Amino acid sequence: MSIDLHCHSTISDGALSPGEVVRRAHEHGCTLLALTDHDHTGGLVEARQQAQQLGMRLINGVEISVTWRARSIHVVGLDFDDRHEGLQQLLAQVRAGRIMRFQAMAAKLAHKGIADALVGASALVTNPDMPSRTHLAQFLVDNGHVRNKAEAFRKYLGEGKPCCVKHQWADLGETIGAITAAGGLAVIAHPMRYDLSATAKRNLFEEFKALGGVAIEVHSGRSSLNDRLNYALLAERFDLMASCGSDFHRVGDFGGGDLGRCPELPPICQPVWTRFQAA
Ligand code: AMP
Ligand code: MN
Ligand code: MN
Ligand code: MN
Repeated sequence: MSIDLHCHSTISDGALSPGEVVRRAHEHGCTLLALTDHDHTGGLVEARQQAQQLGMRLINGVEISVTWRARSIHVVGLDFDDRHEGLQQLLAQVRAGRIMRFQAMAAKLAHKGIADALVGASALVTNPDMPSRTHLAQFLVDNGHVRNKAEAFRKYLGEGKPCCVKHQWADLGETIGAITAAGGLAVIAHPMRYDLSATAKRNLFEEFKALGGVAIEVHSGRSSLNDRLNYALLAERFDLMASCGSDFHRVGDFGGGDLGRCPELPPICQPVWTRFQAA
C-alpha cells in the first residue's frame, strides 16, 4: 500500500495540474492520495474526476498557513467536506493578503538590486489568488540570482531574511475548528522543518491536541529514518496520530520527495488514515 497525504498542484505553488498530480501518483503505485494545495481547495474537483477514472482513492486535502506565537506553521486538513462554508471563508481570509505581500517582497528584492522580480515572478504564478515565495524563488533561480531555491530562501526569502515580509496568517484554533467543523482531521505539517526548541515543540503539540488537532506528519518529503523515529515517539507521547506525505511540488525539486513514494511509518504509529470516512 502506497499512501501520500501531502502534495501540491498548479492551484498553489506546484508545477503539475491536479489531474497530472493524480496520474503521476497512480503511476507510482499510490493507492491513497490527498491533494493539499496551500490555502485553496480549487484543485479537488479535477483531482477527484481523474482519481475516479483511474480507480484510485482520493481524499480531500488542504495545507493552511497559520501564525502560531508569531511563527509561521502549516496545518494540513484531511477528509473534510470541501463545500463547507466556514472552512471556505477561513481559506478566503488567509488568501486575502497574499497579493500585497508578494508585491512587498518584490519591492524588497528591487531594493537589493533585483529590479524585475514582480513582473518575472508574476509570470510564473499559475493561480492569481496564490502568488507565493516559491514563485519568487523560482524567478531568482531562473534568472541566475541564486543557484537553487534553497539559496533563494537562505539569502532572501526565508523567515527573518531581508526580503521576507512577515504576514498574519490564520489562527491555530480557528484553523483546527474550521477543519473539524467541515468533518475533517487537522494534522501538523512537516514538524521537523520548524526551527522550534524542545519546549516550543511541546507547547505546540499540547496546544494543537487541546484544540482538537489529530495528527502530525511523521514522514515528510525526504525525512530520515531518524526523523521518523523521533516524531513517531513524539506523536505517541502527545497522543497524536501519524500522517505521511511527499510534499511534492515539481519533478526534480530538492525539498519535497516524489509523489506516492513515502516510506512506511514506524510500527508504533497510529495511522491517521484509519480515521478516514469509508469511501
Ligand atoms: P508562502 O506560502 O508564500 O510563504 O511560501 C511558502 C512555500 O515556499 C512553501 O510552501 C514551500 O513550497 C516553499 N519553501 C519554503 N522554504 C523553502 C526552502 N527552504 N526551499 C525551497 N522551498 C521552500
Ligand atoms: Mn509550497
Ligand atoms: Mn508546508
Ligand atoms: Mn506543502
